[in-house]
Amino acid sequence: MVPLPKLTLKKFHDGLINREFKAREVVESYFKEIDKHDDKIGAYLSLDKEAALLSADEADLRIKRGERLDLLSAAPLAIKDNILVKNTPTTAASKVLEGYKASYDAAVIKKLRSEGAIFLGKTNLDEFACGSTTESSAYKKTRNPHNTSLVPGGSSGGSAAAVAANLCLAALGSDTGGSIRQPAAFCEVVGLKPTYGAVSRSGLIALGSSLDCIGPLTKTVEDAGILFKSIAGVDSKDSTSRETFYGDDLYRPKLERVKELVVGLPAEFAGADIHPDIQSQMTEVVKNIKSLGIRTKSISLPHVKYAISCYYIIMPAELSANLSRFDGLRYAPLLDDDVKNLLDCYEKNRSLGFGKEIKRRLILGAFVLSSGYYDAYYEKAQKVRSLIADDFARAYEEVDVILTPTSPIPPFPLGKKVEDPMELYFADIMTIPANLVGLPAISIPPGFQLIGRHFKEADILGLGYYYERLSNN
Ligand code: GLN
Repeated sequence: MVPLPKLTLKKFHDGLINREFKAREVVESYFKEIDKHDDKIGAYLSLDKEAALLSADEADLRIKRGERLDLLSAAPLAIKDNILVKNTPTTAASKVLEGYKASYDAAVIKKLRSEGAIFLGKTNLDEFACGSTTESSAYKKTRNPHNTSLVPGGSSGGSAAAVAANLCLAALGSDTGGSIRQPAAFCEVVGLKPTYGAVSRSGLIALGSSLDCIGPLTKTVEDAGILFKSIAGVDSKDSTSRETFYGDDLYRPKLERVKELVVGLPAEFAGADIHPDIQSQMTEVVKNIKSLGIRTKSISLPHVKYAISCYYIIMPAELSANLSRFDGLRYAPLLDDDVKNLLDCYEKNRSLGFGKEIKRRLILGAFVLSSGYYDAYYEKAQKVRSLIADDFARAYEEVDVILTPTSPIPPFPLGKKVEDPMELYFADIMTIPANLVGLPAISIPPGFQLIGRHFKEADILGLGYYYERLSNN
């Protein structure tokens, strides 16, 4: 039996080329684990066994022939079900897309495929990636593998749970307001939200187009660097993507360089709304960072207190525009074809197809964009967003990386908060600012977040890498 819990991307690659195991054995082991445990965890919405095993056999053949393998060759990955993988079901956990199969690969999937990665299946999420618990999926609830009475976080809860439970080697998620980092923190894995524009959004089902990012969920910081490097880069299908120049220091950082970083501690994120357990965890984290010989400095981000209000105007506004394409007629079979006319068809199918949280945001988004209220809400929120960006720009004159908790609260029981959307929205306070400003941010166990300058993923990955080694020793 392959020791799945011990595998990382790097160890898997080494094991493969040193012929300690075959790709097929590893892929079969993952499917066995999924068969055994996923009934109670609920990480996956669909599996693609046939294609995965075929790719594994191809990799094994290449090894037999002595061909060189890329770092991600045959790596068994899980993909959040709002990212298109050609010919496989893609539902965004919504009824409106039930039965839809992607007609093309997302840009990130194309890149990973060209390196030989294997896709085990698609993971559960909050419907259209709206939520923080993975309870708003139309299909199933995902549970936290460390304690199945608790939520795994969300919206990439399926991906985070799959990594934490060894049901895949690593996974992709998407992050619009924290959906990679918060479930990473809840499931005790690593989650990286890249700089906006570093990774193409082509083939990601759009939620908030000015905020959305695809990124890795992994067991180690090194793995996050490896996976991120392979999905980053400009793409002609996403005009907001940029040419990137990342080196191998993303996952092989030099300690001398990391030691020169100055870490900012924002006064605003040390308030009374933080759960005592998280507060004491953060005290420990700061102590550990200092023990690496890294300097810390108090900073202020005075406008982040408006981040939640700002986000919950901009995001629903963008969502209401993006989700208008789901009219019931395209993509998937009609949910109700007993209709009188086109409007009736839209009404019936959108009513049946969308869940409660999506309807709430569609109405809110359409309202803040409506002619009488556009200036009062949407435009104002965009101005506040600039003020928040200015706060970060000022802070980065003095520090290189900003440290915060990833979530102000620890994982909570399923069903506890899902009926109180406001309470869930407020818990996004730590993660949302990085999305509004487009900054890269990583969540590292035990649940702290490092936010870096634009395109400076190397700083947060570098610090994370040495932090992780500290806690593993
Ligand atoms: N919790 C946030 C929300 O519900 C995060 C969403 C996301 O990042 N996709 O909007």
